[in-house]
Amino acid sequence: MSKKDIEIAQAAQMLPIEEIAGKLSLDAEKLDHYGKYKAKVDFSALHNNENNNGKLVLMTAINPTPAGEGKTTTSVGLGDALQKIGKKTSLALREPSLGPVFGVKGGAAGGGYAQVIPMEDLNLHFTGDIHAIGAANNLVAAMIDNHIYHGNELNIDPRRITWRRAMDMNDRQLRSIVSGIGARSNGMPREGGFDITVASEIMAVLCLSHSLDEMKERLSQCLIAYTFNNAPVKMGDLNAQGAATAVLKDALKPNLVQTLEHTPVFIHGGPFANIAHGCNSLLATKMALKHADYVVTEAGFGADLGAEKFIDIKCRLGDVQPDAVVIVATLRALKMHGGVKKTDLEEENIDALKAGLPNLLKHIENIQTTFNLPAVVAINAFPADTQKELDILKEAIQATGSKSVQSNVWANGGKGGVELAEEVVKLCEQNTEMAFAYELTDSIETKVDKIVQSVYGGEGTEWSVTARRTARRLTKLGYDNLPICMAKTQYSLSDDAKALGRPKDFIVNVRDLSVSAGAGFIVVLTGNIMRMPGLPKTPSAEGVDVDNHGKITGLF
Ligand code: ADP
Ligand code: MG
Repeated sequence: MSKKDIEIAQAAQMLPIEEIAGKLSLDAEKLDHYGKYKAKVDFSALHNNENNNGKLVLMTAINPTPAGEGKTTTSVGLGDALQKIGKKTSLALREPSLGPVFGVKGGAAGGGYAQVIPMEDLNLHFTGDIHAIGAANNLVAAMIDNHIYHGNELNIDPRRITWRRAMDMNDRQLRSIVSGIGARSNGMPREGGFDITVASEIMAVLCLSHSLDEMKERLSQCLIAYTFNNAPVKMGDLNAQGAATAVLKDALKPNLVQTLEHTPVFIHGGPFANIAHGCNSLLATKMALKHADYVVTEAGFGADLGAEKFIDIKCRLGDVQPDAVVIVATLRALKMHGGVKKTDLEEENIDALKAGLPNLLKHIENIQTTFNLPAVVAINAFPADTQKELDILKEAIQATGSKSVQSNVWANGGKGGVELAEEVVKLCEQNTEMAFAYELTDSIETKVDKIVQSVYGGEGTEWSVTARRTARRLTKLGYDNLPICMAKTQYSLSDDAKALGRPKDFIVNVRDLSVSAGAGFIVVLTGNIMRMPGLPKTPSAEGVDVDNHGKITGLF
């Protein structure tokens, strides 16, 4: 039996973190050490090497299935492979949230011989950034209720507080709560709830800020409630942005760690891609680009969610653009898109592969046509793949004029990704002008329609009365020129999680909108997507343990 991810990770010899920094010519004095193998990097490193602009490689994928696709694994392996062929390389990735770690997914540090280490730390609250975000978020929540308790000078309508509490855990019990009940001294009874921290606006603000000053300004703009007279109340009205930024002062610094093959990795920020914007911080990406010639970064879930938001939100806001895009696909996942059950994936099934293929083809079309970026498909090889299936997939991709490369990084580390690395280097030589899915000057409705029609391949949208009303209000308040952050199921190109493959002629249901005025986007809630997930019947937490020496098991 092959070794578990955690066993491979624990067997690795890590290099001291200043040696890893040295590979990027990053001075040891820019590091704040969190033990021997983790460090935070000072903000000033953003201004090193003003003239160095590395090539940015975006890792994205088909719509995820329970079969697992392997974006992080392929990112890490590609990073190691680029290093192997002599390129000065760095990765920029997200921090894992405890919710998925203890839920269905398990760890998020890559897999097999393509992992980021120390993987236990990374998966188990790392340098504490996500907790700091939760604390800052809940400080603001406490200040709102406290303001109401002490007389409510701002005239906040307790029924229209939009700022929710946050916690980094999957806990459906807290999704909707009544608080402040009992004695008068317990506050004003009201309905509220918790979101998972990675879906909070502060997470998005952290990921889109270049400095503490910018973060403070963005926080002050966050909309927290409406008054009885329908006027917006901002964090700045409560004067909470200073304290919130103070709580986040270290969390805003990118973290530096390494892969199994000692490629430097910036890990920073971790917004979910289905309910938030889905990529690591701009600071980490930009720092990596200043210190490396090639930077591999991942956008969450499929290209319909992660890559779309990466381009339409992060790139637009941060003035960066990918030089090449890698679309990860697996035979297993394509077979699931073609109707095969998870338990039957080990069997060769050409018909199912062909039936699932249009999902991949739509994502290729989106990257190349909608966003006008050069792309290569990485076929992430799994042990049960058959040669016949592989050949058919490669031919089908070639028939559309696109290129695919098999990636064996899970089994072989960097040397399993050399062919992919060489192809990526070639793609980065092309000069491209990235396109967006919509213009900021489009109306809110038009922006959403354009995403649905061009990126999802749907017919159009159906808006609830509430959503229409909110769109009108946000337009009146002057928020209509912001980009859109779609909150949609990751499993389908549509808003129906069960519509696999490439659904057509569908309508996306827009339930409601909310503005993240500090982060600078409008969140569009479609289908039944939730901001606080729950745990499955048998959470992976049941398999996690630690021995008396502190050695952890069961994180996969
Ligand atoms: P993503 O980033 O797309 O969510 P990950 O890279 O985290 O995916 O991989 C998900 C899981 O699949 C991990 O547990 C990883 O070990 C496993 N995995 C990825 N690639 C392979 C592969 N080629 N063979 C076997 N397992 C793999
Ligand atoms: Mg991942």
